[in-house]
Amino acid sequence: MQNAKEHAQREIATVFRSTGEPTAILNNLRRCSRCALPETHETILFDEEGVCNVCRQHEYKQSQIDWTAREQELSALIDQYRGKHDYDCIVPFSGGKDSTFTLYELVHRFKVKPLVVTFDHGFLRPTTLENTDRTIRLLGVDYLKFRPSWKVVRKLMQESLRRKGDFCWHCHTGIFSYPMHVAVKFKVPLVIWGEPSSEYTSYYGYDEDCIHWHQQALDACRPFGASLYPELKQACDSYFFLPHRNEPRGIGGIFFDDWTRDGFERSVAFVKSVGDHFLPAYVPIFERRMQTPSGEPERRFQLYRRGRYAEFNLAIDRGTRYGLQSGRRVESVLASLPPLAAWQYDFRPDPGTPEADLYERFLPPKWWVGAPHVVDKSGD
Ligand SMILES: [Zn+2]
Repeated sequence: MQNAKEHAQREIATVFRSTGEPTAILNNLRRCSRCALPETHETILFDEEGVCNVCRQHEYKQSQIDWTAREQELSALIDQYRGKHDYDCIVPFSGGKDSTFTLYELVHRFKVKPLVVTFDHGFLRPTTLENTDRTIRLLGVDYLKFRPSWKVVRKLMQESLRRKGDFCWHCHTGIFSYPMHVAVKFKVPLVIWGEPSSEYTSYYGYDEDCIHWHQQALDACRPFGASLYPELKQACDSYFFLPHRNEPRGIGGIFFDDWTRDGFERSVAFVKSVGDHFLPAYVPIFERRMQTPSGEPERRFQLYRRGRYAEFNLAIDRGTRYGLQSGRRVESVLASLPPLAAWQYDFRPDPGTPEADLYERFLPPKWWVGAPHVVDKSGD
């Protein structure tokens, strides 16, 4: 791809030869020095060498991930459920390259019996639909497609455009929830997505995410008095703390229980306000970070940090302690523990790394927003 940029420019010049003006604009776009993706590509970032994050992620995946071990992990997971239900797994299917590849591999290499499902949001292109038909037929798999009422979808599009500046909210939610509905209805215990990895960065700090998270908490509390957020934020900092490590568990939020302040109506209104702020607090962070490249070192750190969660749950969490002491069903009490966690003797991150940053800048309690004197001034 040495001349990738020149090649892309030649192609664009051919397409727009007759018009002149667009050629100049498109030729001046910044492009990845390796794969020629333009700066207008969604979520693209360039590093100092002008290489894009897609190329870097590819590099990372090739060099840092033990794919043989991953394949064994997947095989073991599939074997655990194989042949026990009408279908071995659900495969959410869009007709695009990721889900087609996933389905092909599952059927040919892993020999599963899948139930393939598509949420049709109303914008699937004719070629995608043809690809889907062909793939389903050639692989010989069972297939379900759900297309919600267009009248409902139109209302949802208007509403999500008005509220979120994004008309396709029914697409984002539908493609994730429909496969789960089918899995529950058909009692299929496994759902296998052909999606890029997304979860690994939740143990790394980002200033804007911390500010956003706490801003939402502040907004949820604001109608109920200026002093409420500082009070519950400090309650959170002191509860979610590991005394044996002398270390906060996370970046905090707000914490309360047995809440009856100012009577029933106002307590319900407050809890509702907190609930209503959860998705606006969480989803944007998830969306910002889900494409961040990660590999085995980040995975190791994630497992290590999950150990802190486990320590908190077992040693301090009131719900867990109450559950164990009161002789409840132990599997239910411990259901909130992570499936995998790791401990490493006297682990200390190298100075200047994002891991060190987490301990030095993110975990120590601080006022990301809404320090008491600021709240007093802004009022409510
Ligand atoms: Zn690139």
